[in-house]
Amino acid sequence: MDCTLCHEDAGFNRAIVDTLSGLEVGRICLNCELEVFGYSLQRGFWSDGSSCSFCPRDGHFALPTWEPETEERDGDIYCSVAYEVTAETPRLCDECLHELRRPHPASSRSERSRRRNERR
Ligand SMILES: [Zn+2]
Ligand SMILES: [Zn+2]
Repeated sequence: MDCTLCHEDAGFNRAIVDTLSGLEVGRICLNCELEVFGYSLQRGFWSDGSSCSFCPRDGHFALPTWEPETEERDGDIYCSVAYEVTAETPRLCDECLHELRRPHPASSRSERSRRRNERR
């Protein structure tokens, strides 16, 4: 699957998961993650579990990382990658995700430094 932001091959870095359906709706490659979020997704303390990590809206989309897994079956080792959405998984609302999808992610400002006028 291609990266949702730059449309290059995303590899297995981070998935974008619709938390209602549980379906993977996109991916973010490592380059885009570092460019847009820096290390905040990897090092931040995200434990809310329901709201957007960058604004007060509902965190409709989770951004879990793909983790390699090995499984032994009949003496053979199978390797695969899987993601798991937990309360510590960073989340985005549809608005924040939509902003990331702009054609030139390099020009988008840091989500954290922005101020929004939210209606609640
Ligand atoms: Zn990308
Ligand atoms: Zn948001």
